[in-house]
Amino acid sequence: MLVAGAGMAGLCAAARARELGAEPVVLEKGSRPGGSMLLSSCVVWRYRTFEDFRAECPGGDEELQRAVFDGFDEALDWLVSLGPEIVWEDTPNPRTTGKRFEPRSLTETLVRAAGDVHLEEGLPAEPELPLLFATGGFAVRYAREHGLLVRCNPWSEGDGLDFARERGATLAGDLDEFYGRAMPAPPARIREEDYVRLSQLWDGEARVVNENGDEFFPGPPGWHESDLAQAIARQPGGTAWFIIPSELRDDQRVVGLREAGGTVVEQDGELRLHVAAAVTHTQGGIEVGPDGRVAGVEGLFAAGADVGGISTGGYSSGLAAALVLGRIAAESAVR
Ligand SMILES: Cc1cc2nc3c(=O)[nH]c(=O)nc-3n(C[C@H](O)[C@H](O)[C@H](O)COP(=O)(O)OP(=O)(O)OC[C@H]3O[C@@H](n4cnc5c(N)ncnc54)[C@H](O)[C@@H]3O)c2cc1C
Repeated sequence: MLVAGAGMAGLCAAARARELGAEPVVLEKGSRPGGSMLLSSCVVWRYRTFEDFRAECPGGDEELQRAVFDGFDEALDWLVSLGPEIVWEDTPNPRTTGKRFEPRSLTETLVRAAGDVHLEEGLPAEPELPLLFATGGFAVRYAREHGLLVRCNPWSEGDGLDFARERGATLAGDLDEFYGRAMPAPPARIREEDYVRLSQLWDGEARVVNENGDEFFPGPPGWHESDLAQAIARQPGGTAWFIIPSELRDDQRVVGLREAGGTVVEQDGELRLHVAAAVTHTQGGIEVGPDGRVAGVEGLFAAGADVGGISTGGYSSGLAAALVLGRIAAESAVR
């Protein structure tokens, strides 16, 4: 069995397949394992109730959401049993439950469990089957095509999506929807280890205007603020200004933005922070059944951000989807 991608989904899939007696080979295009998982806050979580999940992500495929929700607790126990370092025993958000892991420790643990991981190695032209795609969606391509910032691993270009599509796979979810954040706008330079720290999350405290000074975002953002990032992406230049009181000049979000070389303008008792929309992962992708099989293509499986239509219309844990669907896809593939 071949697995493309050594991020959360691919490593979980390979680790599970090995546990079931298979000898999976993981091919990773990048120069390191861990994908976006390694750069993440590494909170693996679910909504406390399925109704809340549906309410937050109303456009998502209900069967897939069910699979992720129902499989989560057992999958999380399994992940813990592998021995990665745990940072939080539960989430601080009363609507969610899960654990926060130390990302480097989680990556190293999963690489060990996956066994045979080859770096800087893409797929051969005619790969053997079964083949499991876990290439992390197409955030990098999407950001480039739309003039947005990248806030994820630099290798998720949509290779799994293209491969599956060429072989007749159908797509699911909205290919124009992404999960993202407002980040310091250029000329700020953001190192990938600062993706979490420099996120401009203001929880509705900032007034938001575009480059023309127009307010374009109605009401406070959702708790994940990905809706605001997507609205900024649709503004001229994919940028906006967050306007906050000057007293907040020593707030760590402002300090971080300044230190990264971003633009802060102080005028009339207010601070204006220049921000840009950044893409963390795409939400649309390959149509996959709740058993991890790519619809209509024999021998092909997919998991993680390659799968379309899990969180359409909102946000749920990408790491949880990668964990649960990675395990399920591996179980289907080795049977
Ligand atoms: C800053 C940040 C914070 C985040 N915080 C959280 C959080 O707290 N909780 C949460 O649930 N989610 C979070 N996420 C999202 C989460 O990291 C992703 O949803 C998750 O990593 C998706 O898993 P994946 O395996 O699909 O993709 P990834 O983990 O990105 O792995 C994809 C892998 O595929 C590789 N690849 C690409 N193309 C090929 C190819 N052709 N052949 C072989 N390999 C290929 C890539 O190099 C990469 O290693 C965060 C992400 C970021 C960037």
